Amino acid sequence: MSAGSSTIRIGSDALRVANVFCVGRNYLAHAQEMGSTIGPEPMVFLKPSSALVMEGEPLVLPDWSREVHHEAELVVAIGRGGRNIAVAEALGHVAGYALGLDLTARDVQAVAKKTGNPWTLAKGFAGSAPLSAFVPVGAVADPQRLEFTLHRNGELKQHARTQDMAFGVATLIAWISARFGLQEGDLIFTGTPEGVGPIVSGDALVLDAPGLLHAEFRVA
Ligand code: MG
Repeated sequence: MSAGSSTIRIGSDALRVANVFCVGRNYLAHAQEMGSTIGPEPMVFLKPSSALVMEGEPLVLPDWSREVHHEAELVVAIGRGGRNIAVAEALGHVAGYALGLDLTARDVQAVAKKTGNPWTLAKGFAGSAPLSAFVPVGAVADPQRLEFTLHRNGELKQHARTQDMAFGVATLIAWISARFGLQEGDLIFTGTPEGVGPIVSGDALVLDAPGLLHAEFRVA
């Protein structure tokens, strides 16, 4: 992985990535396909910044997993940190938006769920967080009125409507800021819709939010 991969560009600004927060089970149909449901509060986990992969870099699958899944997600970059950010103020803390993949070693995650161990390895391995380029916050009038898709080898696999999120972007920012604090350069992967599935060597993956964001990745 290149040394500069933990710095992102948003417009003319460069932002050093700090923490990478991820939200599990934020779309009901995905929670159901995993045999789960959505609780009253967000379910948040972390990836190390070494998980990030920028568009143009190959996706390298770990050799200790037999089943790595794609999870297409809207990603929020925080431009201004804070604690106890109010929901009404939350979107004012956003610097930009991207699309990303929360790559998941599903077999390893299944064992972790069974044994009660953390998801860190299943979710946070090197290369587990591919990212598109970012658009500045002003390019998105309302983050709950976006649609994006993931195609695998030309076949539509996931189609998200962000209005279907159980916890919207502003709510997530407020919640995370109250529990962890947020700082400039933090990223939030906001959860995946239904349609997750395996990727294998040679796959072509395309993330697209029409007219806004587009990224293509090749699995090594
Ligand atoms: Mg996810």
